[in-house]
Amino acid sequence: MTLESRYGTIKGRVESACEQAGRPADAVRIIGVSKTVGLDSVAEATKAGIHDFGENRPDELVRKHDAFPDERWHFIGNIQSRQLSNVVGRAYLIHSLYQESHAAKIDRLAAEKGIVQDVLIEVNDGETNKQGVDPDKVKEMVEFCEGLEHVRVKGLMIMAPIGSAEEASKTFAMLARVRDEVVESFSQQGKDVQLGELSMGMSDDYLEAIPLGATMVRIGRAIFSDEYDAILDN
Ligand SMILES: *Cc1c(COP(=O)(O)O)cnc(C)c1O
Repeated sequence: MTLESRYGTIKGRVESACEQAGRPADAVRIIGVSKTVGLDSVAEATKAGIHDFGENRPDELVRKHDAFPDERWHFIGNIQSRQLSNVVGRAYLIHSLYQESHAAKIDRLAAEKGIVQDVLIEVNDGETNKQGVDPDKVKEMVEFCEGLEHVRVKGLMIMAPIGSAEEASKTFAMLARVRDEVVESFSQQGKDVQLGELSMGMSDDYLEAIPLGATMVRIGRAIFSDEYDAILDN
């Protein structure tokens, strides 16, 4: 299969999953995770209609962003303080923020650049991932960020445990529940905090994430490699 036909198939599946869930066909944005491929594949992907890309290493984000500055570059990797200056401003959205010290540094760097940096708070699933804020600390983290003028929290992100669709679904349902509880809790304090974006679902589990409220799915291998061709073909 070509990249274009893989993406076409995935896009079709995403749209029908949306419809089945009673959501608009364009409710979910597909992010092509290009971390394992080069500039030529990114060029091919843009021709196929992909305009959101995910990278997990700052040096690759810089290289690809600067080669394709008009595309939207999502930073989905572990944040290292030293490299944040390369990420802030280049990233359309940082998905993986979970430390207050990093939030404070993003705020400083964004202020210097005269921008507001959009971010998601990464949440851990309480078991397999060390990365991310504990589910019961999400409100605290959002509150901290609300105090920063140059950081805007758009929603939450999670990585599901690999290998079980059932476990993935539980994880995604948990994230949606945490989001609803945090929004409700702010609302009871008279604060209007929107956490509209839920970044959840990858090549193995994006179809599980859509009925549970994903607004962004991060898909790497199913788009950029041939590993999933047999699944996409039938
Ligand atoms: C690599 C990666 C993805 C994409 O994974 P695939 O299984 O290739 O779709 C999504 N999210 C994050 C955070 C990643 O690091």
